[in-house]
Amino acid sequence: MSGAEEPNAKRSPNMTEVKFTKIFINNEWRDSVSGKTFPNINPCTGDLLCDVAEGDKADVDIAVKAAREAFKLDSPWRSMDASDRGLLISKLADLIERDAEYIAHLETLDNGKPVKDARGDVGLSVKCYRYYAGWCDKIQGKTIPIDGDFFCYTRHEPIGVVGQIIPWNFPLLMQAWKLAPALCCGNTIVMKPAEQTPLSALYIGSLCAEAGFPTGVVNIVPGYGPTAGAAISEHYDVDKVAFTGSTEVGHIIMQAAGKTNLKNVTLELGGKSPNIIFADADLDHAVETAHFALFFNQGQCCCAGSRTFVEESIYDEFVRRSVERARKRKVGDPLADESEQGPQVDQVQFTKILDLIDSGKKEGAKLECGGKRHGDKGFFIQPTVFSGVEDDMRIAKEEIFGPVMQIMKFKTIEEVIDRANKTVYGLAASVFTKDIDKALRVAHAVRAGSMWVNTYDVFRCNAPFGGFKMSGVGRELGEYGLQQYSEIKTVAIKVTKKNS
Ligand code: NAP
Ligand code: MG
Repeated sequence: MSGAEEPNAKRSPNMTEVKFTKIFINNEWRDSVSGKTFPNINPCTGDLLCDVAEGDKADVDIAVKAAREAFKLDSPWRSMDASDRGLLISKLADLIERDAEYIAHLETLDNGKPVKDARGDVGLSVKCYRYYAGWCDKIQGKTIPIDGDFFCYTRHEPIGVVGQIIPWNFPLLMQAWKLAPALCCGNTIVMKPAEQTPLSALYIGSLCAEAGFPTGVVNIVPGYGPTAGAAISEHYDVDKVAFTGSTEVGHIIMQAAGKTNLKNVTLELGGKSPNIIFADADLDHAVETAHFALFFNQGQCCCAGSRTFVEESIYDEFVRRSVERARKRKVGDPLADESEQGPQVDQVQFTKILDLIDSGKKEGAKLECGGKRHGDKGFFIQPTVFSGVEDDMRIAKEEIFGPVMQIMKFKTIEEVIDRANKTVYGLAASVFTKDIDKALRVAHAVRAGSMWVNTYDVFRCNAPFGGFKMSGVGRELGEYGLQQYSEIKTVAIKVTKKNS
């Protein structure tokens, strides 16, 4: 379709009905204290989708009180057996699976991502909840043979009330990456979804209540970053804040923690990930994977392969094939199964991307295809490819978060490693080659939290993910992810030796 067509025309109304738009505290729905709402915009049309309760500091205060109450030592949540906590998380996964098709549609409606990708996010979320459900009764400390007559052991206790602030690019999945390990360790939660995409998070709130989580364990406060988000990160009674989003806001969150109660902070931030393609790589596979690495999710991925470095001898052919592939990309109604690309999430991102495309042209990169809006309605952008990109251009340095590919040329392995590392970011990287020595040399030399060899975007709930440098602090997923949601307590007991 063009951006102008109505995306939901042929769908059953039940699949695109928005059911929950209020604040979720103590397993109940409530209006904001101020009575205010904010508009949630349909990215396909730019029209109003629904109004959502606008939480701010007053609502966050109520949510934190509820979470603190639920965290009391004798509360149902704290006195529950660990295995029963696992059953609850498992029940939540079952309910998400039951409603998978509805949730995928809701995510598409709110975010604009193709429904087949949203289905993928639902599946990954279910796996994430199940994975952490299994960990609940396997979190254990150590006994330590300290000097002297003591019995010493460690306990891994929950941190307490955890604030979680999530972005709009993978709303459902980022919620799962945060909720599942936090619940697994026995914390209670106040979550703020992104203002652009609050709907799936709220629906999962309803499923938490249905699954039987005690009141106050999961609280969800939609609202804006500088108000509701800041109220969480500045709160004296929030013990930890976990954030995914821009590096800019990451700074603000860490400063807020520093200025208040020194709460524990984990951050998953931006990236400008290098994707290095050597001349000996399988060219068809490298072209297709580099296309996916950049264009997946409308280019709105923190780990997007947004600096494509190609060895000189195959450069022209790689550019030719990449442009051919980008031109074939199916842009349109995200609810249609054949669509590969939907709209960008909102007007702000749309404008920012077009501005960066403009800067690429002005700074002398060659626009090979795309570069304009797609259709005449909504926030669709044509798949865009630049060649002749130099390291100091804005499009090579800044996170574009859109369907805009930068292809750069390199000559030697030393040169490309050096250039790959010349960034403040360090989230992900990849290398394409048939030479194992080259692959390992690059894999170990590039400073990034995830390294992919002859592949891209391999995410599994049991493998950790996170950033070096200004791409983040801490790791999510896997056993490593559990460390971010527990405090270690050391207990030493005097052992009295009696001789008689
Ligand atoms: P963002 O501002 O960092 O938003 C992420 C989350 O932080 C949202 O829930 C946001 O609230 C909240 N937030 C904003 N200001 C805050 C504050 N002062 N205190 C506490 N929380 C705050 O990201 P964005 O503006 O949506 O996107 C801007 C750029 O960030 C993108 O172009 C992209 O480069 C990058 N980004 C990266 C990721 C990632 O996965 N690493 C994800 C999204 C965006 P609101 O609901 O008000 O937005
Ligand atoms: Mg929306």
